[in-house]
Amino acid sequence: MGARIIDGRGFAAGVRARVAEAVGRLRSGHGLVPGLAVVLVGEDPASQVYVRNKAVQTREAGMASFEHRLAAETPQAALLALVARLNADPAVHGILVQLPLPAHMDAGAVIAAIDPRKDVDGFHALNVGLLGTGQKALVPCTPSGCLMLLRETLGDLSGLEAVVVGRSNIVGKPMAQLLLAENCTVTIAHSRTRELAAVCRRADILVAAVGRARMIRGEWIKPGATVIDVGINRIEEEGRSRLVGDVDFAGAAQVAGAITPVPGGVGPMTIACLLANTLVACCRAHGLPEPDPGRAEGAAA
Ligand code: NDP
Repeated sequence: MGARIIDGRGFAAGVRARVAEAVGRLRSGHGLVPGLAVVLVGEDPASQVYVRNKAVQTREAGMASFEHRLAAETPQAALLALVARLNADPAVHGILVQLPLPAHMDAGAVIAAIDPRKDVDGFHALNVGLLGTGQKALVPCTPSGCLMLLRETLGDLSGLEAVVVGRSNIVGKPMAQLLLAENCTVTIAHSRTRELAAVCRRADILVAAVGRARMIRGEWIKPGATVIDVGINRIEEEGRSRLVGDVDFAGAAQVAGAITPVPGGVGPMTIACLLANTLVACCRAHGLPEPDPGRAEGAAA
């Protein structure tokens, strides 16, 4: 095994610590407490775990956490009314409606109802457009976390060849925009891409966001490349249940220069970036300078 293992768990702890420090300064200097409201509709078990973790980490960072749990059969109008109340609540700086929503709801309509200044998931069309036009946006948390890990690993990304496998609105597309803004040459691959292995082999930076266990093999990776594995796939292996990424870690680690493990790579960065976005939204709401918890003191770049 030659690759450096990128410690997302450790880096995320650093981001959370820097968020907590900035929250402490907001509280002592300005009497402000950033607040994050998380809305869960229904009882999806995975969503319940995410929402609980988000609330715990929000409080640990010194922020206010507001949890709203609605029954699965709640009418969409009631959810929209709650979003309108949260939009108007000055104690709430970030609003996250946990997806997926029950089938009778239109997720697009709910996202569109969130005040874009409080859209800490970065899914509102206004934030998507701001990101795409190089303006100040709230950026989706998972790709934002990937970029932090890439900057920490590589420093300046200018001119590097980046391949993003996956084109979802929550990971692949915003990841590509962020890499473009870092002056990478970006290719977005997807299920219709021809010669995917050859496309991946061009990449200095390979981001896998597919949702297929170990699809990307060691032979697809350019020697020395940095590999960011967003995938979270549960598989049964040797009689037990395991989480694995979209990249065949054992094979890829022989070839890559650096690689994120699953678990312990990108996963922990997502909530850390949610906290960072809530902090940023609070600072913007009050016209205060924005801290950058994504950059460690003395880091490359
Ligand atoms: P989506 O299902 O929304 O998108 C998957 C993408 O992969 C699509 O663009 C699809 O192409 C592409 N794809 C599917 N099969 C292939 C294939 N055989 N070859 C090439 N491309 C393919 O997934 P998400 O973006 O939401 O999530 C991706 C993965 O990341 C999942 O494992 C998810 O669990 C994980 N995830 C992890 C997070 C974290 O915090 N670490 C957060 C969010 C997601 P097409 O568009 O053509 O269908």
